Amino acid sequence: MDVVKGIAVSPGVAIGRAFVLGEADEHVPHRVVAAEEVGHQLERFERAVAESITDLQQLRERTARELGAEPAKIFEFHIGLLHDTSLLTPIRQEIEREHVTAEWAVSSRFKALASQFKGMGNEVFRQKANDVLDLDRRVLGRLQGATESRLAQLTEPVIVFAHELTPSQAALLDPAKVIGFATDAGGRTSHTSIVARAIGIPAVAGCQRLTHLLEEGDSVIVDGDNGVVIVAPNDEALERYSRQRRSMESFLKSLREVADLPAVTRDGTKVTLLGNIEFPREIESVLANGGEGVGLYRTEYLYLASDTEPSEEDHFNAYRKAIELLDGRTLTIRTLDLGADKYTQLRAEEPERNPFLGCRSIRYCLQNLPMFKTQLRAILRASVLGPIKVMFPLISTMMELRQTRLILNDVMEELDEDGVPFDRRMPIGMMIEVPSAALMARVFAHEVQFFSIGTNDLIQYTLAVDRGNERVANLYTGAHPAVLQLIKSVIRVARREGTELSICGEIAGEALYTMLLIGMGLRTLSLVPSQIPHVKRVIRSVDIPLCERLARKVGSFDSERQVLSCLRDELRKVVPEALGGIAGD
Ligand code: PEP
Ligand code: MG
Repeated sequence: MDVVKGIAVSPGVAIGRAFVLGEADEHVPHRVVAAEEVGHQLERFERAVAESITDLQQLRERTARELGAEPAKIFEFHIGLLHDTSLLTPIRQEIEREHVTAEWAVSSRFKALASQFKGMGNEVFRQKANDVLDLDRRVLGRLQGATESRLAQLTEPVIVFAHELTPSQAALLDPAKVIGFATDAGGRTSHTSIVARAIGIPAVAGCQRLTHLLEEGDSVIVDGDNGVVIVAPNDEALERYSRQRRSMESFLKSLREVADLPAVTRDGTKVTLLGNIEFPREIESVLANGGEGVGLYRTEYLYLASDTEPSEEDHFNAYRKAIELLDGRTLTIRTLDLGADKYTQLRAEEPERNPFLGCRSIRYCLQNLPMFKTQLRAILRASVLGPIKVMFPLISTMMELRQTRLILNDVMEELDEDGVPFDRRMPIGMMIEVPSAALMARVFAHEVQFFSIGTNDLIQYTLAVDRGNERVANLYTGAHPAVLQLIKSVIRVARREGTELSICGEIAGEALYTMLLIGMGLRTLSLVPSQIPHVKRVIRSVDIPLCERLARKVGSFDSERQVLSCLRDELRKVVPEALGGIAGD
């Protein structure tokens, strides 16, 4: 039995037989053809490109239909590349001038482009390199007549293993036949992981040399909750995981009943549970899972989901839709958090060397005022339609906050001049997601009405660990005492200064942290909608003195390992099923 640790990218447990997708990066020989064959090679090339475009369009439509518009976007880039003359013309020229086969010309050009992207050294471009290689395989497949992928021919449920699954391969996975997957490469933010979560199958990425360890047909377990893959499990492991899967299934069933119950501790303290959303349509899921409003609306997805810059009306329509769906509940709009791994690097003529420390978020907005003002106008216009709060991301200095407020005032004046109504008393808040903001919370408290702690970034900036890099993923944890001390100090300040406070990083949705966050004093959590019942279940099973005792105990630890093991032990005592996995047992 081999146990391989990777990165948990999509939850659940799958037990079954391995299906190994080999390296699709087959060697293409350099072959020269006779002069009279050149025309035929060109024709083959044009046909393969046209057929690949048709395949991709179908794949895009199917993905949009089955998984939604967001995962389908992945194929836009592929289709765009196959129309790009700066890529296609040199291939045609190479066939004409060098008399090489279409296969060789395609393979050498695509691989050169992929290594160019890889050489750019950041995650966004590395992802693009994978997209290019994916496309290379597709066009070669068409050229070689390999129209049916082995994946599409599956007849019985399997767990797919690959060095790296491409987005198109992942989208082809039929959940009726593929019950889980694991890859050597990749991380939580790769396209493939996004698709896995959308399909809803357990998955583990970043398993390093896993595919070297197994053979097709091996018995395997993929534990997507803990990021563990077990090859050739012994009877005891099989029994343990089967038990785990059964208890998880009945736990999930019982959770559906919890959604409509109030989020109140056993001793009567109310905790407000809000949803994090990227698109207004997710509000249905927030409400179905028992959320009481939206604590974080990541509006940058308006940009990421479109090729053109959204207009004021695009913004306004999205906010109006959200307000309507919320029907009187609060909508917390976070202004554009573009930059770093989102949007700007893709469009930059000169990508930044350290984009996470660069021109992202509020910094980017302050350098692109027309774009920022367009959004602020739309938010203010929508503020008369229902309860809206606005919150600014990545504030790290007082100057930034003051400048931002001045711009908001300017926009208010413009609306006044135009006679457009808005809510003058719309609450203004900021994310606390950089250590400088956490450490200066007391002075910021005088300038805003509310704080929301964004632990996803607070962790990466406190611990100097890139949140999307699988090679340092083991260092990225909210249980680090330094992160907890910062959270604690913000809670203390907010209480003393009477500043409204919530937390909206991923840990707000992890049942493991619920008792600790409540024990530290948080009473509003904003989280991924599907996790609301899990967290609510914990809240309803505990009382405040128990949580406060836990928080005091955790405060005395000096390592994240101690913190995590204590959190696990305590949660196991109150809601054992909530642990969702058995790693560390
Ligand atoms: C955060 O940083 O914790 C946060 C909620 O924002 P995002 O994940 O969008 O960066
Ligand atoms: Mg953030």
